[in-house]
Amino acid sequence: MEIFIDTANIEEIKEAISWGVIDGCTTNPKIVSKENVPFEARMKEILAIVDGPVSIEVTTNDTNEMVVEAETYNKWAPNVVIKIPMTIEGLKAVNILSRKGIKTNVTAAMSMKQAVLAAKSGATYVSLFWGRIEDMGYDAEKVVGDTVQVFEKYKFKCKIIIGSLRQVSHISRAIRTGVHVLTIPPAVLKQIPTNPRTESTIVEFLLFWEEYKKRQNKYLFKKIKKDREVKTDKHCYCCGTEKELTYYKNLVLKTKGFPVRCPDGYVCKDCINAGRVLGSE
Ligand SMILES: [Zn+2]
Repeated sequence: MEIFIDTANIEEIKEAISWGVIDGCTTNPKIVSKENVPFEARMKEILAIVDGPVSIEVTTNDTNEMVVEAETYNKWAPNVVIKIPMTIEGLKAVNILSRKGIKTNVTAAMSMKQAVLAAKSGATYVSLFWGRIEDMGYDAEKVVGDTVQVFEKYKFKCKIIIGSLRQVSHISRAIRTGVHVLTIPPAVLKQIPTNPRTESTIVEFLLFWEEYKKRQNKYLFKKIKKDREVKTDKHCYCCGTEKELTYYKNLVLKTKGFPVRCPDGYVCKDCINAGRVLGSE
């Protein structure tokens, strides 16, 4: 299963790529218009940073114009995929483009039978729109699941993408369909790794660790005092000498490679010079 990021925002794409979970990117005119930047420059930037297919959508419903646009975009990079709307004109364009070896993603499909036609026409990908299928009152899990089964049965090479994933609650259901690709908007993707119970568990573990460190500090400090058999308060906390002492507030000493917090006290010049005193805070 592959995950694509559904955005044209560079920072969001870079962030998702850094997680190591992104196999490609999808855009559409609505997503690009939100960015308010020159289209070609932004697309080329995305094509350069995404190590995988990047879908760029045509902006016309005329077959010949779609083919001309597709041929232009296709020259921008080897990972270009042309998004073509699921219409009769679109199918005609996909038929022409697939014969030229140009990869396509037939978009805005809402049913299994539409997806089958896209595959037949030579599309590389077909995108079923989860949220919009549910808006119409259909069970998107069933529609996509059936399409996946049919594609497997007839051994179509075309890969199915689930788009229009608007809520984190859609994700598990979408994965269960056995679909090839999920394309997820950054806002939804960011919610997947977080879970209130996961966060509270991590906080709990760290609190235990902090308590442990405090106890270790107290233990080591007592041990230093005992080891040195210190008789007066005016001695070096580090080596026990009573010569050339400097008074420190909230002393931090390095003992056996471990920083130890001590109360206010004295340290000698030799210990300071030898780096056994990490400082005071
Ligand atoms: Zn000393």
